[in-house]
Order: sequence, then C-alpha cells, then structure tokens
Amino acid sequence: MSLDRASIIALDRKHVWHPYTPMDRHLSEGPPLVIARAQGSRLYDHDGRSYIDGNSSWWVAQLGHNHPRLVAALERQARDFCHVALAGITHAPIAELAAELVQVAPSGLERVFFSDDGSTAIDLAVKMCLQFWHQNGRPTRQRFVSLSQAFHGETLAATALGGVEVFRRPFKGSLLDCVHLPIDDETWSTAAATLDDLLEREADQIAGVVIEPMVQGVGGMRIGSAQALRTIRAACDRHAVFLIADEVFTGYGRTGPMWACDHAQVTPDIMCVAKGFTAGILPMAATLCTARIFDGFRGSDERALFYGHTYAGHALGAAVAREVLAIYRDEEVLAEALRKAQRLQAGFVELGRLESVARVRSLGMVAALDLRGDAGYLQQRGRQICAEARARGVYIRPLGNTVYVAPALNIPDLDLEALLSVLHDSVRAVELASSR
Ligand SMILES: *Cc1c(COP(=O)(O)O)cnc(C)c1O
Repeated sequence: MSLDRASIIALDRKHVWHPYTPMDRHLSEGPPLVIARAQGSRLYDHDGRSYIDGNSSWWVAQLGHNHPRLVAALERQARDFCHVALAGITHAPIAELAAELVQVAPSGLERVFFSDDGSTAIDLAVKMCLQFWHQNGRPTRQRFVSLSQAFHGETLAATALGGVEVFRRPFKGSLLDCVHLPIDDETWSTAAATLDDLLEREADQIAGVVIEPMVQGVGGMRIGSAQALRTIRAACDRHAVFLIADEVFTGYGRTGPMWACDHAQVTPDIMCVAKGFTAGILPMAATLCTARIFDGFRGSDERALFYGHTYAGHALGAAVAREVLAIYRDEEVLAEALRKAQRLQAGFVELGRLESVARVRSLGMVAALDLRGDAGYLQQRGRQICAEARARGVYIRPLGNTVYVAPALNIPDLDLEALLSVLHDSVRAVELASSR
C-alpha cells in the first residue's frame, strides 16, 4: 500500500465531501476509519484494527464483504466483457438474471427494468406510473401518496416521496406533489385506514402509492405490520391505483422472508430492489412490474417507456446479481438468518432493560433501540454510543436517538455475540458518563 494512514486522512480532509455529513463536525472530530480491506462481516483499518460492520455498509453487504464467489463472478465476467448498451443488444447475464428475478419475486411481477441504484429504481417507478396513466386514459393521475418518515432515495422524485422533513425542506419548491400519510401508531394501521378515505375522494388524481413494506429504514427503523400492508394493498385494488413496494432496504431477506411483502403475501404492482441486489459489490438496481403495466407501453412507438440510464443492464452487475441469488440458494441464507435473527431479537430484549433505553424492536436481521429523550434526527446521544462502540471494535451509525444494527445475514455467530455485547457495553458507558 503506497499512502500511509495520515496522508490519506489529510487528502480526504482537503478534498472529499462526504454524504449526509455535517462537514465541520467531520473535520473537527477524531480521524475517520481508513479502510484497507474488508472481509466477511469485518472492516480492517489501515492500522490493522478490525471492526464488525454493524450495518453492513449502509445495508448492502448482506452476504458479508468480498464473498469469494461474488469476487470470482466479477472476475469471470470482466474477462468476457464489462458493459455494453442494452438497446438493440442483449446478453446472457442480463437475460438469465431477469428470468431468475421473476422466479423469486412475488408472483405476478413479470418484467424487469434495470437501473443504477435504489434512487433510480424509484425514479423509474414514478415515471412508469405517470406515463402509464398519461397514455392509458387517466392523465389526471399525477400525484403520489407515501408515508410520513418514509425514505425513498435522492433524486428529486424520490425526495418528493420522502417524508423525513429535514431532507425535504431545502428542495420543497421543486418537488412533485405527494401526500404523506401520518403514521401515528406502531402498526401503521391508521395510515392504512386513512388511505382508503383519501383514495375514495381523490383516486382520479393519484398515480401511485409508495411504501417501504414492513420496515421504514432511514426514518428510524420503524416496524409496521402485515395487516397494514394488506389493508394498503386492498385500498389500492379498490381504487385501481398502483402500489409501489420499495424493497431497496427490506428485500433479499433483511426482514426474514425474501421480500417484506411476503409477510403479508402481497404482490405490489411495481417493486424496486437495490442494495442487497448485488450485495454491495456494484451499484445496480431493478424495477419489476406486472404484465398489465408492461402492456400499457405496447403499441405505437411513442408509447415506449422514455427511460434508460447509460449503465442499464451492466454485465458485471448482472453477473454478480446472479451469483448473489445462487448463494442464497446454495448457502440457505434465509434459513440461517432466521436462526441468527432470534439471537438478535433476544439480545435487543436484553438491551431494552437498560435504563436509558426507551424501547426496542426487531424484525429479521434488523434491530433497533430508541434512547430516552427528545426525538429527532439531529440528536447527540446516539452518536456518543456509536463512538463508544467504535472504540470497542464495532462500526455503527445512529439515526438520531435510534441506535440500530443491520448486520450481514450470514454474520458469524461469534461476531453477532460480540456485536451485541459491545452495544450493551457502549450504552452502559454513555449512561455512566451522563450520570456523573
Ligand atoms: C437506500 C434506500 C434507497 C436509495 O437507494 P440508493 O441506492 O442509495 O440510491 C431507496 N429506498 C430505500 C428504502 C432505501 O433504504
């Protein structure tokens, strides 16, 4: 390795603008981790220390870092070709991947459109709905419905759907029209019931309803219910409005079954997948839809879906995404994760007994605790706990006063134990410091 740790940090501090990071704080607080290597559920700093990756690097490394089969698939494909345009051309990785995705998706989703990341998968879903209604006799359907505290990504369309106020505020004047249903109970059943009333009045203006099924990620790891999901599906059916399931975070077994929609045996009209899709190897995403939606774009040339990124259907990404699905089958990832999820849940029940913890929750391989005190994204105490965790060899980041983990689904049992006990010690350490 050529550069030493201090020089890397110096260059970073001079030139790199970090995502979702108040840069003055970044520049004034202690040095960042400098990753030299990552393997399985561990990150290795330049100085040789290792850290358990408690959130699988923003929820993507579902199979751990550098799974040897994924690296091998990447190398194999790179020797043949890396990327070609997906217009007037096709290739084995993308054709086989599309077929395999349809196979594992909730039944009824038959077509796959590829894009670059979660945000573009959502952007595409929005445009699919708008253009569908535009050319199929319901041009007044131009608004969307989503949930308060929702997060759907970074493009302007995704920002409009998002319900975390601090992320929307600066862009408010430029956002498409979206109604955010308040979530004022733990099961989301009020929001689900309100949806039916709203659609009763305004279905002729609503293009689609967008939700993170079962768990809202960025909004604070809020867990809903299968019942609410079924109610939302039923309301969309009653008023013939499209339901878009954003499975970018919840897909690929994060909440237990392959898809969060499976908790309720619900098939959305459109499903967006990213993150676990390539398990953190490359940015790539897919938007799946029903035959009905696809058929709305058939006919004369001007009915074609006007969408497509330069890197759509990237062959390297497709080869990796296929191997991800193969690993899920061969290594029985979901069954193994179910067992680990029970341990995770038990660990969080224990954490819930600590004095500063207001409540805990978990679903599959995501678990969260809320600290007592004021809510809100800009809170301090969660950060102190994460700093304590880092000193003890665990990398996690808070969402305001919510501290959560979303480890690799195949995290080794010993690392899972270590993660839980470090979290326990870190919460205790902050309790002790603040009681002094
Ligand atoms: C992360 C996320 C996105 C955005 O995905 P990117 O790949 O970061 O663009 C969209 N929806 C949900 C639910 C997410 O968690």
